[in-house]
Amino acid sequence: MLNLIKYNSLNKYKQIVKTINIYAENIKNYDNEELKKQTKKLKQSLQVNKSNKSKIDPILPEAFATAKEAIRRATGITLFDVQILGAIILNNGYIAEMKTGEGKTLAAILPAYLNALQEKGVHILTVNTYLAKRDAELAQSIFNFLDLKIGLVTPTMSYIDRKNQYDCDITYTTNSELGFDYLRDNMAIDASKTVQRDFYFAIVDEVDSILIDEARTPIIISGATQENSEKYKTASQAASILKSFKDYEIDEKGKNVTLTEEGIMRCEKFLNILNLYNVNSGWIKYIINALKAKEFFLKNKEYIIKNSEIIIVDEFTGRIMEGRRWSEGLHQAIEAKENLPIQSENKTLASITYQNLFLLYAKLSGMTGTAKTEETEFTKIYQVSVIEIPTNQKCIRKDLPDLVYKSEYSKWQAVANECLDMYQKGRPTLIGTTSIDKSELLSQMLDNLQIPYKLLNAKQENASREAEIISQAGQRYSITISTNMAGRGTDIILGGNPITMAKTILKNHVKSTQKSFKSRPYFNNIHEKLYKSQKIDSLIKQAETSFLNENKNIDELGIDTYIEDVTNTSNLLNTKSKIDRKNFQIYQGILNECVILCSKEKKEVVELGGLYVIGTERHESRRIDNQLKGRSGRQGDPGKSRFFLSLQDNIFRIFGGEQITRLMNTLKMDDDTPIESAILSRSLNSAQKKVEGYFYDIRKQLFEYDEVINSQRQAIYSERKKILKSVFIRDCIIEYGENCIDEMLHAYARADINTRHKILVQVLKLLNINTQFSINRLIKIDAIELKTFLYEQLRISYDLREEYLEQLRPALIRKLEKYYLLQQIDQTWQDHLEKMNLLKEYIGWRSYGQQDPLIEYKNEAFNLFISMVTSIRQNVIYLIMRSRLIVNI
Ligand code: ADP
Repeated sequence: MLNLIKYNSLNKYKQIVKTINIYAENIKNYDNEELKKQTKKLKQSLQVNKSNKSKIDPILPEAFATAKEAIRRATGITLFDVQILGAIILNNGYIAEMKTGEGKTLAAILPAYLNALQEKGVHILTVNTYLAKRDAELAQSIFNFLDLKIGLVTPTMSYIDRKNQYDCDITYTTNSELGFDYLRDNMAIDASKTVQRDFYFAIVDEVDSILIDEARTPIIISGATQENSEKYKTASQAASILKSFKDYEIDEKGKNVTLTEEGIMRCEKFLNILNLYNVNSGWIKYIINALKAKEFFLKNKEYIIKNSEIIIVDEFTGRIMEGRRWSEGLHQAIEAKENLPIQSENKTLASITYQNLFLLYAKLSGMTGTAKTEETEFTKIYQVSVIEIPTNQKCIRKDLPDLVYKSEYSKWQAVANECLDMYQKGRPTLIGTTSIDKSELLSQMLDNLQIPYKLLNAKQENASREAEIISQAGQRYSITISTNMAGRGTDIILGGNPITMAKTILKNHVKSTQKSFKSRPYFNNIHEKLYKSQKIDSLIKQAETSFLNENKNIDELGIDTYIEDVTNTSNLLNTKSKIDRKNFQIYQGILNECVILCSKEKKEVVELGGLYVIGTERHESRRIDNQLKGRSGRQGDPGKSRFFLSLQDNIFRIFGGEQITRLMNTLKMDDDTPIESAILSRSLNSAQKKVEGYFYDIRKQLFEYDEVINSQRQAIYSERKKILKSVFIRDCIIEYGENCIDEMLHAYARADINTRHKILVQVLKLLNINTQFSINRLIKIDAIELKTFLYEQLRISYDLREEYLEQLRPALIRKLEKYYLLQQIDQTWQDHLEKMNLLKEYIGWRSYGQQDPLIEYKNEAFNLFISMVTSIRQNVIYLIMRSRLIVNI
């Protein structure tokens, strides 16, 4: 049924595509000035349409057609209909599944343009800064034709720059910059230091990797607290003498360890303590973390060490995650294990998960090559549907059945031999591995076989180098090893990417003029001979003199940036320098040669069958495997994929269960002969589905727990924002005071006489009213009168305070009000976060009982929140009524 609806709606959209193309044909005739005017014109028709709710829809066809034409003028590329279809899907707030190489970057331009016309800001989010920058530059070259400004937010920017970039019509940045800016904005004490506008429309690139893979680690801003690093070290020593399965049990699936009785005793003896579980010493937390560090966190797999620091490797993308730390003492436990300096434990000052961050947008859309397998999750958790966009050309890639070897060793031998085979044929091959160690293992084997290869993994220093390698992975004789999907975002073009190739040639040559020309290869690449070209030789010679002679730009920018700049067509429109123009011409000359080389090369690679993708382990979700396969067979290219597996692979070991073990015993396999058995494939698929289900449950649970804190965060942040932006907050303070009084009177109504007495003392103290004179009288009057009296007193007391401060220093009170409010909100919220963390752990322990832990958690969380709000109000009133102290300082 659902499919039918989608099928029909895709058909409906196809009609719109037709209309867009008709508009585009007409707009083609506009000159550049007329094209530019389109933006103003479309904005005006939006004004007219103001009453209409979905007001941008009527102008969609014309706006999309305008953007399509701008793309054509800037890049020479005419969008395929499927890209326009994808663009409509994005605009409607869905996830568009478009295969690798279908041109998502350009498709996103259309909805970005249409929505930017509303002047509320559009965000395009990518996974790393390199891609954000690359895409922003491309977008600017397009939007120059439409008079829109493109922003780019990168990690090193100051807040003023950030603000300017966020104020642009369309802003490109990474998910993590966006998240940290959001959190920082919500910690700002001064409204002028905030950088973001309200979230309106976002297009999330590689949306599956953000909303699914990264969903398990929230982004956190933290501050240091005092912590005893000795405890981590001692716990690490204890862990190293404890023995698995004797002193502790390992739950590999749940990544958990539990101590046995024996283990508990050994720890107590080692630590010389009586009770390991004493809450005051908290030893148990240290020991469990140390054991987790020992069992589940391996160097060069889960993390790498760089400059004496533990850096997390993202298990899905293989990328390193600078600045991120495992929470709750785990990071420190790993530091202790590795004998590194132990950084102080951090207190969470602010945190948010990507799911909840993106749900802040009024309209959210995403694009990726692989989402269909996780469709249920997208629909159930995020309420966004996934719509599969047909490919422009039919995909003719052959996905061959898995080959399963008995031992891991024979599997790797087979992979290496396969690489040798391919290399001898010259067929480009991409091998995906699941960890850095395995990549390195394979690279050693290839070294032994004397096969040249390129290695891509998390250790790669910069993403541009990574993109460069990936973009040439489709050349003949290229063997590329890649940890998971490092290098996502750059597609593999058969025969190589001429633009990257031309730039690389320039960079490699202009950079090292000292060495003799002949001894330098064009690429630090394979099979140089293939690419020797007389024309390129002579152009390079020209480049060497022309680029370096009297070129101040190179001194200023550095050679790499200068080359990027000078080869960028859109920059050239603005530059007047003669030398830059000449250099651009040289680049064009080299580029033309590269285009010829690459297209010749492409023909040969196509004859060889296209790119061959080898998987070396099934991942925990089919989606990640599909990402790897999807590297081959872009835009109707031929291609092939095959997974080489072994019965010792994690997925079999952990999730395969009895069936696989039995099978291993019945099938009398010898080491080197793989099997392609139907039963095995079935078990494998069911194992993989089991894993997917398992992780889905974890994410769902996390999401449900996070939802609780998320609604609290939104309440606090919106209150905070209101205060931050307002200039006159007296009313807010008075309201807080009245709320305090109400709450206290609520308790008062139900209390006995003694307690009433105490409550009255409290109220009067809070309002800073002399207690002696009134208590006895007040206790006699009825509730309504008492309330009126206290409300009055609140105002009087506050007026007096205001007057007093006004005399001391005019306008001080307004500043103090704001300061106290924000400071109290922040501090109490941070304490609250800590309590919520503890609550979650505590609930985890309790879940053995009958209660549903989530309901328990929600109830307790609600109580904690109410008491937090009460204490914010009371503290603010208390402080402000005594603000003399501050003035005296
Ligand atoms: P994806 O993100 O979908 O894998 P990209 O946006 O990286 O794809 O685009 C892949 C390549 O295809 C880029 O080099 C881009 O310039 C090119 N491209 C995009 N759209 C078209 C088109 N309509 N015609 C020709 N080439 C295109």
